[in-house]
Amino acid sequence: MTKFPFFLVVPVLLSAQTAAPDWKKLQAETREHFSAMVRINSSNPPGNETVVAKYIQGVLEREGIPSKLVGSDPNRLSLIARLKGSGAKKPILIMGHTDVVGVQAERWSEDPFGAKLVDGYIWGRGTIDDKDVVAGGLMTMLILKRTGARLDRDVIFVAESGEEGGGGGGRGAQPTYGIQYIIQNNWPDIDAEYCLTEGGSFVSTGGKLLYQRVELSEKVGRGMRLVAHGTAGHGSMPRMDNAIMHLGGAVWKIGQWQPPMNLTDVTRTYFEKLAQVVPPEEAERYKALFDSGKTQAAQDYFRKNNIEVNSMLRTSISPNIIGGGFKSNVIPSEAEVTLDIRAIPGEDMEKFKAMMEKVIDDPQITIEAGNFQAPSPQPSTTGTEMYRMLEKVQQRLFPGTATLPYMVTGGTDMRGLRLKGMQCYGIGAELPTEDMVTHAMHSDNERIKESGLYDFVRYEYEVVAGMAAK
Ligand SMILES: [Zn+2]
Repeated sequence: MTKFPFFLVVPVLLSAQTAAPDWKKLQAETREHFSAMVRINSSNPPGNETVVAKYIQGVLEREGIPSKLVGSDPNRLSLIARLKGSGAKKPILIMGHTDVVGVQAERWSEDPFGAKLVDGYIWGRGTIDDKDVVAGGLMTMLILKRTGARLDRDVIFVAESGEEGGGGGGRGAQPTYGIQYIIQNNWPDIDAEYCLTEGGSFVSTGGKLLYQRVELSEKVGRGMRLVAHGTAGHGSMPRMDNAIMHLGGAVWKIGQWQPPMNLTDVTRTYFEKLAQVVPPEEAERYKALFDSGKTQAAQDYFRKNNIEVNSMLRTSISPNIIGGGFKSNVIPSEAEVTLDIRAIPGEDMEKFKAMMEKVIDDPQITIEAGNFQAPSPQPSTTGTEMYRMLEKVQQRLFPGTATLPYMVTGGTDMRGLRLKGMQCYGIGAELPTEDMVTHAMHSDNERIKESGLYDFVRYEYEVVAGMAAK
């Protein structure tokens, strides 16, 4: 080894050591940016996410972090920023969506765009979906820049519009905003080895953190319509082939049907690990899922008592729009129902449709299949450097809590990225089980535990720093 003069070695050592973040001070700053973003009403529709993107751009600009706004709809721009690394490893992408779902303000006990702190919780639309995750990404960028961390990888931050749906953001052939726009038009700006965004959470009960759910997979939307065909006629002379009657019967049968349980590697591991961290009575139910003598009773229990678990166990069907008829004295010749079908990744949909036909068992009903062809992305895996880092930092900050691979029953913006081969992981702030229904995402009175927000920012920063800093 070559000996360098001491005075040359010292500066190298100093620059390799970055200043430790002052978390107390950073909490106040997190609260400031988070509250400012919650106070911007970016309800989708119409979105107006550009206002949020510009706020973030202003914050980054003051710190000397360049960013750009992208999209062809000027009201719905997304932001992309990048901290350069040495390029020794591939970039990491951290993301959060800037739109929120709408509110019925009269049903809230606090202003949904007030970001008011009440009893240790910050209230408002978007507080846990998804401005907490946006704040996590923003603060991570600021801290990395300020501490002067030398990076092995570029860290890319995307605050994207249009995650909460609505057409132009992704479903159309020519998206004008949102992640699909970015994937089609700005791919080189976001291409990365790993991405981190919403979809997971730290679950607590009675203030005690129990486990983290890391989202590796999601169900696939496979919507269908049931169409009933009958004979039109005069309403004064009822017909047994009335399309509405037949549709009603079919909807009832399909609603009562319990499609077969279909576990994946992700969900099997999730329930096995969950059984190790919940109270004994609950654990028995999860274990029973794998016991051929007890599984049916356990599945029935979840169907009645835990709709999320029920949906994780199988491809689910929910009849959500119904239509038929146009005049009270006319028997219509057709009636239809739109089914929201969320398939377990890998479910054979032709086989599933055949099962539905058997259940309905009515020649007057046809099943119009939706997008069976839409690809189902490969789940992310637990065997990556990123997953290990998520576990490692969790053990450091919240020792003794478990890390569970998780599948969400809805969808996130990770879908399009996973289809491109990116390993994506969904994370999130503390979610108290007591809040899961009454204060959950998309519910009235959405709120976040204040300390959970700060813990999440620190967690995300330490994961990203662990992955990217030298
Ligand atoms: Zn969301």
